[in-house]
Amino acid sequence: MGPELNQSTFSAQKKRKRTGGQKFNFGWNDEEDTSQDWNPVYSKRVDRYTGPMVFDGLNDAEVEKEYRRRARMLEERDPEHGKERARQMLEQMERQKEKSKSKRTRNDWKFKELADMRERDWRIFKEEFGIASKGGHIPDPMRHWGESGLPSHLLQIIDQVGYTEPTPIQRAAIPIALQARDLIGVAATGSGKTAAFLLPMLEYISQLPALTEYTKDDGPYALIMAPTRELVQQIESEARKFATPLGLTVVSLVGGHALEEQAFALRNGAEIIVATPGRLLDCIERRLLVFSQCCYVVMDEADRMIDMGFEEPVNKILSALPVTNEKPDTEDAEDASVMRRLLSAKDRYRQTMMYTATMPPAVEKIAKQYLRRPATVTIGNIGEAVETVEQRVEFVSGEDRRKQRLREILLNGGFAPPIIVFVNVKRNCDSVAREVQNMGFSAASLHGSKTQQQREEALASIRSGAKQVLVATDLAGRGLDVPDVSLVVNFNMASSIEAYTHRIGRTGRAGKSGVAITFLANEDNDVMYDLKQMLSKSSISRVPEELRRHEAAQQKPAARGSR
Ligand code: ADP
Ligand code: MG
Repeated sequence: MGPELNQSTFSAQKKRKRTGGQKFNFGWNDEEDTSQDWNPVYSKRVDRYTGPMVFDGLNDAEVEKEYRRRARMLEERDPEHGKERARQMLEQMERQKEKSKSKRTRNDWKFKELADMRERDWRIFKEEFGIASKGGHIPDPMRHWGESGLPSHLLQIIDQVGYTEPTPIQRAAIPIALQARDLIGVAATGSGKTAAFLLPMLEYISQLPALTEYTKDDGPYALIMAPTRELVQQIESEARKFATPLGLTVVSLVGGHALEEQAFALRNGAEIIVATPGRLLDCIERRLLVFSQCCYVVMDEADRMIDMGFEEPVNKILSALPVTNEKPDTEDAEDASVMRRLLSAKDRYRQTMMYTATMPPAVEKIAKQYLRRPATVTIGNIGEAVETVEQRVEFVSGEDRRKQRLREILLNGGFAPPIIVFVNVKRNCDSVAREVQNMGFSAASLHGSKTQQQREEALASIRSGAKQVLVATDLAGRGLDVPDVSLVVNFNMASSIEAYTHRIGRTGRAGKSGVAITFLANEDNDVMYDLKQMLSKSSISRVPEELRRHEAAQQKPAARGSR
């Protein structure tokens, strides 16, 4: 009986505290407010204070007047403690005034004219969006699309596509890219990097003459490289959203399709080519494609390209580009007026941009070699999961118990499809998918041993809603964008914290929230420490007791080994 009573008082207090924070109540606790008792007139007006009136509703002078009036009344009515309470009330008023002042200045950037934005405003703005930039002569980020510097026909398309607000990487990177600057963008998955490089690219291309019978064989105006076929196709479809209304052609080159087929796709020319490095190099070496007018190059997921062994093909491709328009390694490379100048009717200095989630040495090497005086933009804390994903961890060992638990989650967890389940080995992929089907869901599986066509079908079926659950290996962990994934289940924990971060980044995308549930067991010793750190950094996730106390979670594996 006792504990129960305590509990209910506690929750009542908590409730009061919560609502009190949003209302204009002069910082009093309700129980301290005796005004209703001592003045019948006042009790009628009390609604005004406890009703849904927010602090912002009154101007400073009014707030102050209210405070002073109440302080005076307190003094008059409460001979014993009135003076003291009045003094406290005025102190509270001063604090409140300070607070509202700083709150208002923090938001100043929203109300200021662009010309009135001071360095301090920009600093606050960048802080708010987690934007950090490095390099000389970096333009200010954009506060809204109207300030992007993008031409109005593109802004119209952005509006039609439904991108009301730019994402942080778009805010920071688009103005830089529009200055024809080289750029390294470091941002978490799902942060809108694709449009961040596509939009300035389209701005550049729309200044150039349309491809003709004579110029189409000189190759594309812009090239985008990405590590996997799926990513290439995803970029292609995002590119088409914007390019097709502009009358521009996007062609993708990936393995798994016949070379002849791709040569055929190129027959009418394409302003933009999206490709995996391996297949692209094939096409170049077989002279299906030249790059004599390509002045815009993007490497997406550069670190992953290196991981997948594409360093050599990437280097070969970049060296196959014309050199006559390479940027000088001088301050001119930071000067928009020089860099944006057209060198001929259809080219200017080559602009190179690289997007990556991490900066391993090999990526840095390529950046040094092919980027000139790049600006570096970093969004948020890299390597940490986005704050929109609630991460849950459960200790469940053994195939059968995991399947059982998965069943409970899918049937009773209240998660709407699409749902992605990650497994570590290909073989498991199909067996878990079958199991999910037995539970009454439609499922597709995606792993490296599937044919290209099967992989594409699996992705299309989950995107279109034809299938509810996708069971996949790490192949789908990175960069793939399936809209509105509500839940990611790690049927097996990923073997590294980076892979884990990418997997759970499949949900909680584009500002939506999501849940990631990970089944953990003793075989995951090597990642437990990192996982624990990761969970404790996320304000919306909880470190389960068993993980917190687990021996393997106490120290980084290297440190443990050297003991
Ligand atoms: P990343 O490459 O950073 O992992 P994507 O470019 O794939 O992320 O974008 C993730 C999702 O967000 C995509 O579905 C994309 O259409 C959507 N998106 C991108 N920019 C915006 C925006 N400004 N407003 C709303 N949605 C956006
Ligand atoms: Mg991407």
